[in-house]
Amino acid sequence: MPTTSSSNPAFQVVVSPKGVGRLRSGHVWIYRSDLTSADGVPPGALVQVVDERKRLLGTALYSSASQIAVRMLSAHWVADPSALLRQRLKDAIAYRKFVVTDTDAYRVVFSEGDFLPGLIVDRYNDVLSIQVLTQAMNADAVREIVMSTLAEQLSPAGIVERVDPRIAELEQLAARESRLVSGEKSETLFTMNGVRFRFHGLEGQKTGAFLDQRENYAATARYAHGEALDVFCYQGGFALHMAPRCSQMTGVDSSRPALVLAEANAELNAHRKLGYDIEWIEANAFDLLKDYSAAGRHYDTIVLDPPAFAKSKRTLDTAMRGYKELNLRALKMLRPSGILISCSCSYHVSEAEFLQVVGSAAIDARRSLRVIEKRGQARDHPAVLNVPETAYLKCLICQVSH
Ligand code: SAH
Repeated sequence: MPTTSSSNPAFQVVVSPKGVGRLRSGHVWIYRSDLTSADGVPPGALVQVVDERKRLLGTALYSSASQIAVRMLSAHWVADPSALLRQRLKDAIAYRKFVVTDTDAYRVVFSEGDFLPGLIVDRYNDVLSIQVLTQAMNADAVREIVMSTLAEQLSPAGIVERVDPRIAELEQLAARESRLVSGEKSETLFTMNGVRFRFHGLEGQKTGAFLDQRENYAATARYAHGEALDVFCYQGGFALHMAPRCSQMTGVDSSRPALVLAEANAELNAHRKLGYDIEWIEANAFDLLKDYSAAGRHYDTIVLDPPAFAKSKRTLDTAMRGYKELNLRALKMLRPSGILISCSCSYHVSEAEFLQVVGSAAIDARRSLRVIEKRGQARDHPAVLNVPETAYLKCLICQVSH
């Protein structure tokens, strides 16, 4: 959203009929292969999008590096991109006031979900964490508007910028370290659904916590009982929510630093007296589930929240085998009336495909499952209709029959 449009003649990209069809179907991305021309358009420019007969299709942000060459901002010409950026940031903040409850940590800006393609902003109490994913959002003028609007609207004590080196390389962004970009504070405590967590803005994976699971944590806590296993527990999101309802809780993750934080988070919640200690185990989840089921262990509640196995269409088969194995082993270990919480955050795996793979695991495990809830990402990660990539998280809550 460079601010140059009023002084410079607008750059133009020409879209092929296939690309036009994609826009007509409501999508907001145009792949490079669907551009007929992008002559002389600089990286990150604001562009007029036209068809081959030069009819205006809208205004977009251009990337010279990504396969997603064009991300639409508007179906009209945008005369004042700075004003639009400010307005969309304010709208994103207002939307959260409308849908977010019981937390001081939530996603403030979700890229395409907030019509701000390439920008992610998370709030952890008084600290904001921002991630810039595209050339256009990385432009100095754009960053200035983002920072000043966030500061004015949310008065954070600190803003950290998280840089994903893989994205920076793909998008050919100037090399930057993750760092504090404003204020003094990069660490804080936050509370969601009454459960406390630590936030370290400059450590850990992703942008801190998995905020997209926030509403699923609360839902899960309604059904969890007995002896429980939280597989791929990271910093303890599910385990800490469910623990007060359970008689025993084990969290499993292959990352030691994540488990150290999980333990620290458990201590922060010591006031919610459990009468037992949560056990945190560093292990490969596949090996552990295999060993535990071979040893005849049983549980009343099992959470499976693996990382995105299918990072692309090519790895879909391997991903499906991974989901099948995890769900099969978990189902074999669940006692009658036990609860399976099974998640997938791979966009490439649709809800229908995910239901199918869990269903096929149930057949092999000879268990019948009731679907209690079919859930997705929390409302502060809004999905946009006709842009399927914005809906990625599946969370199934099922009960095993007697
Ligand atoms: N349930 C967590 C998020 C899980 S993210 C929450 O709600 O916060 C996925 C986690 O899987 C990461 O913490 C990562 O360290 C872990 N992980 C990845 N591969 C693993 C494996 N093979 N075995 C165990 N843990 C693994």
